[in-house]
Amino acid sequence: MSSSSYSLRSCPSSSLSIRTGIGSRSSRHLCKLGFTPKWASISPKQWRKSANSSGHDYRYGPVNFCALKDVKSSSSTSRNGNTFEFDVVIIGAGIIGLTIARQFLMESDLSVAVVDKVVPCSGATGAGQGYLWMGHKSPDSDIWELALRSHRLWESLAESLRDQGLNPSEELGWKKTGSLLIGKTPEEFDMLKRKVKQLSGAGLEVEYLSVADLLSMEPALLIGNSCGAAFLPNDCQLDAHCTAAFIEKANRNFEGRYAEFFHDPVTGLLRSGSNGKIEAVQTAKTTLYSKKAIVLAAGCWSGTLLRDLLREEKTVLDVPIMPRKGHLLVIENFNSFHVNHGLMEVGYVNHQALTSAKDLEHTSSISMTATMDVQGNLVLGSSREFAGFNTDINESIIARIWERASEFFPTMKEVSFSEIKSSSKVRIGLRPYMLDGKPVIGPVPGFSNVFLASGHEGGGLSMALGTAEMIVNMVLGIPGKVDPAPFSVQGRC
Ligand SMILES: Cc1cc2nc3c(=O)[nH]c(=O)nc-3n(C[C@H](O)[C@H](O)[C@H](O)COP(=O)(O)OP(=O)(O)OC[C@H]3O[C@@H](n4cnc5c(N)ncnc54)[C@H](O)[C@@H]3O)c2cc1C
Repeated sequence: MSSSSYSLRSCPSSSLSIRTGIGSRSSRHLCKLGFTPKWASISPKQWRKSANSSGHDYRYGPVNFCALKDVKSSSSTSRNGNTFEFDVVIIGAGIIGLTIARQFLMESDLSVAVVDKVVPCSGATGAGQGYLWMGHKSPDSDIWELALRSHRLWESLAESLRDQGLNPSEELGWKKTGSLLIGKTPEEFDMLKRKVKQLSGAGLEVEYLSVADLLSMEPALLIGNSCGAAFLPNDCQLDAHCTAAFIEKANRNFEGRYAEFFHDPVTGLLRSGSNGKIEAVQTAKTTLYSKKAIVLAAGCWSGTLLRDLLREEKTVLDVPIMPRKGHLLVIENFNSFHVNHGLMEVGYVNHQALTSAKDLEHTSSISMTATMDVQGNLVLGSSREFAGFNTDINESIIARIWERASEFFPTMKEVSFSEIKSSSKVRIGLRPYMLDGKPVIGPVPGFSNVFLASGHEGGGLSMALGTAEMIVNMVLGIPGKVDPAPFSVQGRC
């Protein structure tokens, strides 16, 4: 049976309801383990049946739709039934769109609308493992300053929650465990030593750990004598779902200046008849006029969407953002062993980077990452492959993620996967990938009020706050903390 038989699209979508207030939603890409691994006894037929039943596991309830008519604001107005006006319209309610909205609300008095074809966390954000690590990034790369700035902004956010008497671990799923980049071969050992020197030269707190030190910190690991690790004690992690929900809730506190339009795909852009500027976003149900800026933060859909939206225009803009599919395995309440830090094998660095277009033909690759989230779930990553916009579960990839993790944690070999299957989930997401390995952040050439913020691949959670700051500074004309030039759309489409 082909894996496509187990498409996550078979999850029934929740019906639309119109409400304001506390958010609730559905998630299409966070379903109970929906395939039949070769070691499991359940038959595909049984699974299919359960997938179609109303008892199928969903994390969220009915979707929230906040119509502008509920918003009392001087700066956002309802023109008529389904036509509204805001200063800023953001397309995409993933971590990038939500944090950009947050930044506008906090740093200006502009009104903001966020529109999504589904709901927050239905894209790559909902699949994210949540590590905000610097260890696998390179100080020589263009993304370094942005990642570093974002890291500091995340830490300040966690700190500000503490100052308000809130617990960042409850609000964001925040954990400051530090991260370990682990090498298993003599070559990786050499690479790690160079990496520690490089990261330390760039001002990060980092130390090289021998096998003995590593095992004292992570006793469940089994690695040979020629191995070691780079330890970054300040690295943190968050829970993407908690964090997105927290940001959304905080955005809604800006009553009168913020509105959400969910389950409402963007279908077009409208030009002003008088000055020729793009003045509105057309969705399936609404027209959202924008007085100041339109921000396209639609993750891996941004490139194709931009092409579609500008089809009527003379300009052909081809921003080559591709979907890079990833699987993640979540084992709930895992207690066979404990992972004390965030772990990543050093091979991840090459796994993430691609050197030539030829590599796009590769079917899939796996690299071990392991985190323990605040609920005590073991989260194992991850795969990378180019499979178009397909989000079906591939059971062989899950098996390989499990096997790769078992090479680091031999205890896992003693655990029968079928035993824990019922408490496991698979998350699948499409990372927004740019071939040059860096996001596109800035105005779209020829459209001064349309901005793009996408292409963060496997680092969108980690780079979100820096990206949001950059976009808002650009729109407001404020000099930024990070040079935006490497991320400009110009020259990359
Ligand atoms: C398995 C996996 C693990 C990961 N782990 C990490 C990690 O540990 N740390 C990290 O930093 N990053 C991680 N990432 C990467 C991170 O999740 C992404 O970089 C990030 O979520 C991208 O956010 P986004 O807002 O750009 O895109 P998305 O989250 O995909 O959001 C885009 C939104 O646009 C909406 N949209 C699309 N088309 C339209 C339309 N026509 N109209 C309206 N709305 C539309 C979609 O519905 C979606 O909600 C991981 C990714 C995967 C897949």
